[in-house]
Amino acid sequence: MSIATINPTTRKTLKTFEPLTDSEIEAKLALADKTFKEYRKTTMAQRSRWLNNAADILEKDYREFAKLITIEMGKPIKEAIAETQKCALVCRFYAEKASEFLKDVPVATNASRSFVRYQPLGIILAVMPWNFPFWQVFRFAAPALMAGNVGILKHASNVPQCALAIEVILKAAKFPAGVFQTFLIEASQVEAVMADERVKAGTLTGSEPAGASFVSTAGKNIKKTVLELGGSDPFIVLDSADIEAAATAAVTARMINNGQSCIAAKRFILVESVADRFEQLLVEKFQALKMGDPMSEEIDVGPLATPRILQDIDQQVKETVTKGAKILVGGQPDHDCPGNFYPPTILKNIPIDSPGYSDEFFGPVALLFHVEDINEAIELANSTVFGLGASGWTNNPAEQERLVEEIEAGCVFINGLVKSDPRLPFGGIKRSGYGRELSIQGIREFVNVKTIWIK
Ligand code: NAP
Repeated sequence: MSIATINPTTRKTLKTFEPLTDSEIEAKLALADKTFKEYRKTTMAQRSRWLNNAADILEKDYREFAKLITIEMGKPIKEAIAETQKCALVCRFYAEKASEFLKDVPVATNASRSFVRYQPLGIILAVMPWNFPFWQVFRFAAPALMAGNVGILKHASNVPQCALAIEVILKAAKFPAGVFQTFLIEASQVEAVMADERVKAGTLTGSEPAGASFVSTAGKNIKKTVLELGGSDPFIVLDSADIEAAATAAVTARMINNGQSCIAAKRFILVESVADRFEQLLVEKFQALKMGDPMSEEIDVGPLATPRILQDIDQQVKETVTKGAKILVGGQPDHDCPGNFYPPTILKNIPIDSPGYSDEFFGPVALLFHVEDINEAIELANSTVFGLGASGWTNNPAEQERLVEEIEAGCVFINGLVKSDPRLPFGGIKRSGYGRELSIQGIREFVNVKTIWIK
């Protein structure tokens, strides 16, 4: 994909960028390497001041950044505003907590003094997706920079202006030049950067093929990685649930970001006793959503980020319906409209051999499944290659405990929708990836856990 801003609402190309040449990449890597040697000596207090400056800038100019997000990838402006605010929050969180998370940890041994010290690794490469173009980067950068690493960013090709804006924010926050640099490069150029000896580790958020290719390069070069990949999160509704609350949360859980979120609820698993009521409420709530120009504060659903995503979701729905699924709402893109719009859609009776049963649906499509009881619900929830998040709705403590214990996922939320929170670790298992972001676990991914033993 060429590097360009193409407004998903109009499909107009607004700006194009040439990828960096080899010599430009070399100059940036040399700067990052040189900067790291000095930056690692800065104090936590100094880094905190810079990161808080970044939070100030995000809070002050949030409208400008939110507009950029919406123009480049199409999310409703109110969600883009919330995204910039969350970025400020993660900056303030690590500015305050990093020194506590990374302080020496004494361990009693036969030495006169032994302890663990956390030290930075050096240049960390972040390969990021377009769906939360600010949040994905800040949730990587805030802990990585606080730990004393320097960051380089290869952002998705459709959000180049967001990528450049983030570099500008961190420079304006007074981080030394070279602490965080955006590399406008194509996916094919990532391998050489990751293989470069000066790059010590990497993280990729995106699709399975991209993740697999990235970590194979890292593996060949013996480098630490974190992977945040796709998901097909279950949203389980059991007998004792508050059905109205569950249906309201279900709409946000599925429709956030125009349905393009890794932790969106994608499979709604309903026990028979509550299925009809939940289904009826969900249909009403989906029908009430307003789709249109995402720059309007009134709009709930904007266009999908690219024509390719629109084509993929349309194809997945068509195939699932051809195999026997029933459409309750939506199900047809509006071909007369110039943007990448796909309407909120609900499918039920999903056949086991259809994409709706096994694939990730990265768009505004809810897939409904009926089950007899909690045993069947857990079995269905786990019958996927993914293991990112899960949301369970029940007021029965024994059932809550079973979901907590038996669901195969990186997180389980009971009576709430899955969301990331700087205070809690975030990441997946199975083909959703490995490693964790956020919280204390996130900042400890890209550090040398150094054992110190003094006689
Ligand atoms: P994608 O195509 O994998 O792109 C993600 C990033 O990887 C982009 O910067 C892309 O660059 C780059 N890339 C693509 N192929 C690559 C390769 N072979 N080597 C190195 N880099 C490569 O992802 P997407 O389809 O746009 O994003 C959607 C996927 O991301 C979904 O599966 C979603 O669930 C997942 N996701 C996961 C999380 C999480 O936290 N677990 C969060 C958000 C999204 P180009 O743009 O230049 O191709």
